[in-house]
Amino acid sequence: MQSSVKFGSFLRGIAIGAAAIFAVGTASAQDAAATQKTVITAARYLDVLTGKTVEHPAIFVGPDGRITGIADARTVRWGSDVRQIDLGDRTLLPGLIDMHVHLTSLAEVGGYQGLRYTDSFWTVVGVANAKKVLDAGFTTVRNVGSADFEDVGLKQAIEGGFIQGPRIIPAGWAIGATGGHCDSGGLPPSMDRKEASVIDSPEEARAKVRWLHKYGARVIKICATGGVFSLGDSVGAQQLTFDEMKAIADEAHMLGLKVAAHAHGDDGIKTAILAGIDTIEHASLASDAAIKLAIEHKTWFDMDIYNDDYILATGTANGTEQESLDKEKAIGLAQRQTFQRAVKAGVRMLFGTDAGVYPHGDNGKQFAKMVEWGMTPLQAIRAATVSGAEALDMTNDLGAIAVGRYADIIAVDGDPLADVTRLEHVAAVVKGGVLVKGE
Ligand SMILES: [Zn+2]
Repeated sequence: MQSSVKFGSFLRGIAIGAAAIFAVGTASAQDAAATQKTVITAARYLDVLTGKTVEHPAIFVGPDGRITGIADARTVRWGSDVRQIDLGDRTLLPGLIDMHVHLTSLAEVGGYQGLRYTDSFWTVVGVANAKKVLDAGFTTVRNVGSADFEDVGLKQAIEGGFIQGPRIIPAGWAIGATGGHCDSGGLPPSMDRKEASVIDSPEEARAKVRWLHKYGARVIKICATGGVFSLGDSVGAQQLTFDEMKAIADEAHMLGLKVAAHAHGDDGIKTAILAGIDTIEHASLASDAAIKLAIEHKTWFDMDIYNDDYILATGTANGTEQESLDKEKAIGLAQRQTFQRAVKAGVRMLFGTDAGVYPHGDNGKQFAKMVEWGMTPLQAIRAATVSGAEALDMTNDLGAIAVGRYADIIAVDGDPLADVTRLEHVAAVVKGGVLVKGE
């Protein structure tokens, strides 16, 4: 569990030697495919809206990449002008949504190791990570924190067809307090340097939201409490005041943006909910009172309950500081127990993994953890589809294989409702009606 945001240091990762960069030529091929009518066929698809599996679908896609109709492939006919993508004896699901990633962070480069790299390095590895995440079946991600608007640049490059990647809802910088989880700690005072998104009053907070929005943020991320990878802070301690969080929530909502709050400790979680924050990230130490409050306020919980296994297994090998490992040990199990209580109580749950603190592309490994800790496979899949779309206010675009929504569709072997680990091995990915992985 954990997260962190920028500054090369504590949240960045490895040296991906060869960042796979995709030829600009793909753009024209994608454009051509996208302007054609398409029909996608397979043995069955999961209708996540009803929970039912439907046999032999023929999913028709218009030139704008949206689904125009769903028919029975055994009886429907289509003309020779329609291009067919046949995904064979597989199960189709809507493209998955990961609500908490850091595309420009690398798990493999931890602690002070990040200082070895120049600033633009992180955008370059973000290009490779975007493709890995897309190939893993995640056709939409909310990038909750990256320095220098790296995620806005990735979004522009993907939308322009220059590189391949998921749809991105970028936060840009994450807003936090001086010395907090989203400030650059771990350095001596002679190297004092405030992150660009540090605020220390409600007025500064409001101005920062406006600035982030101006330069492309489409969600606002705040650091309401300490964190695992930020050095020198207490993981559960609240770091922003109610007035600061409320100013951020009010300003963001006025601009039409949602707010995601990194919050491990109970006080920070409760204060964030009362301030009008939309999604609580991590939610590790939420008490029953906080859970009740979340239900009352319809606040989403977005709990990254897979990555504990990776962080503790890799230990200091990636350069992660012992202090961070100690914090992870202190809250890892507690977070999973909180997840179980929150699911049982009926909190609205999302699928968010904090990719970047574990290797990008392994996002699907969290499904099994969610099932182990109290969800049915269908609940876990709905968290990563319909619920994600709802929390993003994008139910007209994403989250289900349904008429009017984008043809963001993945194919897996077997039945993911019987074995949710099928989602760790996605065979084919279609984004906006264009096949981007598989045959
Ligand atoms: Zn995070």
